[in-house]
Amino acid sequence: MRLVLVGPPGSGKGTQAELLVKRFHLTTIGTGAMFRDAIARGTDMGRAVRPLIQQGLLVPDPTVNDVVAELFRGPNRPERFVMDGYPRTYAQAVAFDALLRQEFLALDAVVNLSIADDEVVRRIGGRWCCSDPNCGVCFHVAARPPKVAGRCDVCGSPLIQREDDKEETIRRRLGEFHKNTDDLLLHYRKQGLVDDIDATQHKDAIYANILAALQRRRPDEFK
Ligand code: AMP
Repeated sequence: MRLVLVGPPGSGKGTQAELLVKRFHLTTIGTGAMFRDAIARGTDMGRAVRPLIQQGLLVPDPTVNDVVAELFRGPNRPERFVMDGYPRTYAQAVAFDALLRQEFLALDAVVNLSIADDEVVRRIGGRWCCSDPNCGVCFHVAARPPKVAGRCDVCGSPLIQREDDKEETIRRRLGEFHKNTDDLLLHYRKQGLVDDIDATQHKDAIYANILAALQRRRPDEFK
């Protein structure tokens, strides 16, 4: 099984990736995690991408494409995988197509977790987390309210809203996401690879719908 997972922040992409990895024994290829690792190890590439990532900007296409190509051309190239966070732009998708062709690998599906922007804002914008970095437990004003407003249930420290979780920041990230993803999805739609999954449902229902879509494409993986 070879999948690309697409979805805005707050769509539950990470959760679904984890479930799919377990079910089909896949390797997760997360470019964000690869960059964070390079930054932690202090490599040349890590030093180059660090300021971009800190500002929430995308790493230039050639850099990301090189990192992914190196992985697929290496001795431990993944055969069964779920792509999490790559390709993120149309140019990356074109480069990835060429790379997979060279490696004689074909994608089975592009799973598109679709959710309205307002729902994402409601989900992420309602998240408040413990200000004590040793605790860090998160609550949600609607889905998981703390027992005492503004206080952590676990350690009693004040709850704060992360910069990333503020409405203005979320809207900006969603704007970026649509700017890049609409063309990317169109590219994959033309290849008949996209499965649109309603990501407003409970995570179990989302997972069941993904499995149903994948079973139509790869019944052999369900025997
Ligand atoms: P993520 O963990 O996927 O949210 O990625 C964290 C950061 O890494 C992003 O905000 C980007 O700066 C960078 N990044 C990860 N994947 C890509 C990609 N495919 N294209 C460009 N930048 C990326």
